[in-house]
Amino acid sequence: MTSVGTLEVGVVGCGIAGQAVATFLADAGHRVTVFERFTEPGPSGAGLLLQPTGLSVLRRLDLGDQVERLGARIDGLLGLNHLKHVVLDLAYADLHEAAYGLGIHRGALFGLLHERLQRSTARLVTGAEIVEVEHDGRRATVVAKAGGRHGPFDLVVVADGAHSRLRERLMPKARAPLYPWGCIWATVPDAGKIATAPAMLQQRLRGTTTMMGLLPIGQGLVTLFWSLPSAALEPGQPIDLEAWRMDALTLWPEAAALIEHAAGAGNFTRATYRQVTLPRWNEGPVLFIGDAAHGTSPQLGQGANLGLLDAHALSRALAASDDLAAALALFARRRTPSVRFYCQASHLLTPFFQSHQPLLGLARDALLGPACAAPGLRTMMTTTLAGLRRGWFSTDELDAEGRYPLED
Ligand SMILES: Cc1cc2nc3c(=O)[nH]c(=O)nc-3n(C[C@H](O)[C@H](O)[C@H](O)COP(=O)(O)OP(=O)(O)OC[C@H]3O[C@@H](n4cnc5c(N)ncnc54)[C@H](O)[C@@H]3O)c2cc1C
Repeated sequence: MTSVGTLEVGVVGCGIAGQAVATFLADAGHRVTVFERFTEPGPSGAGLLLQPTGLSVLRRLDLGDQVERLGARIDGLLGLNHLKHVVLDLAYADLHEAAYGLGIHRGALFGLLHERLQRSTARLVTGAEIVEVEHDGRRATVVAKAGGRHGPFDLVVVADGAHSRLRERLMPKARAPLYPWGCIWATVPDAGKIATAPAMLQQRLRGTTTMMGLLPIGQGLVTLFWSLPSAALEPGQPIDLEAWRMDALTLWPEAAALIEHAAGAGNFTRATYRQVTLPRWNEGPVLFIGDAAHGTSPQLGQGANLGLLDAHALSRALAASDDLAAALALFARRRTPSVRFYCQASHLLTPFFQSHQPLLGLARDALLGPACAAPGLRTMMTTTLAGLRRGWFSTDELDAEGRYPLED
């Protein structure tokens, strides 16, 4: 394979992982071209929770101050059931007094990454839906739907998200079943400060079929999530907002102002998720990262953070290796343990929060609250929330400043 000097790199997908990897690699001197199917790349608008892991990657891109200005500091996770019994109560401060997460609007995060990408030497080609990547084991060419061919590239990074079509074409052994549950989400003003006092990601749960979440995302806004079966989320399926309003008000009366606002505005986004498992990270010079490689349900709030870590790890592996094959092997060694853990843990936990299995809801309500209070288990759950786990029995630690130390 090519010795790692200056590489010609193609990146498919201008999302969170794609923009971060393109910027890191362009800054390192590689010649990078990003392909995005949309003419105007942009996120669908709701919020996400950045963990100490993702925040460290954004600082490495010199976006730390800006992201902090735009987002809302989150001190932990608080989940209650419909009887107001504690199901989840975790605090980043248990790991380090200065540790926190950050709720942020996707549009704000996207805008920061996009502006940073445009300041780099990476070239962006929009309106280019890539339908094929051809390679001879050494170099790869991408083929756009409209017919154009681009390349050859020494490395093509596929970051086209959880519903990746290229994954099916290039890795037929990959599995990516749709979860039977997804959600609707909307961003609304934080009337009454219900979502920001306390500064937590809050959840209310009734059994395994009803779940509402509130995530403060800065700028006086909060993102509201509501769980629904995937069948109800299919395009064209009407969503009965009046029935939703009544149900939500019963579950969480204190959030009435937010619920009324969301019901009135009616601009919910639908989201479905996939549980992605790849047999390996790359097929010759074609590497999968982000949700395309390891999408899962957002129950643990890690997807964007894992994609940012992939981007940073690839840039470091290329810098530390003499040839591309060695770099990709190093990348795989570094990323596999934590990615495997988070995919397994999300998959295992999701039915306790979203399923038609009421017994799992009862077990969750009986066991998780006490587990949050038991010292060893509490640490395991908090390190999981913070994105620090490398496996069921091993974890990274925050540094002396309460930040995630990136591997160089
Ligand atoms: C409801 C919900 C809540 C979530 N909450 C959190 C959270 O709190 N914290 C967290 O870390 N994560 C969260 N996530 C997960 C997070 O959104 C994803 O992990 C993250 O967006 C994945 O980034 P990505 O760059 O891999 O893919 P994406 O952001 O999906 O980007 C893929 C890009 O590729 C483009 N593309 C697709 N196909 C092609 C093609 N063929 N050719 C060219 N371009 C293409 C798309 O247009 C898009 O721009 C949540 C997800 C959901 C659904």
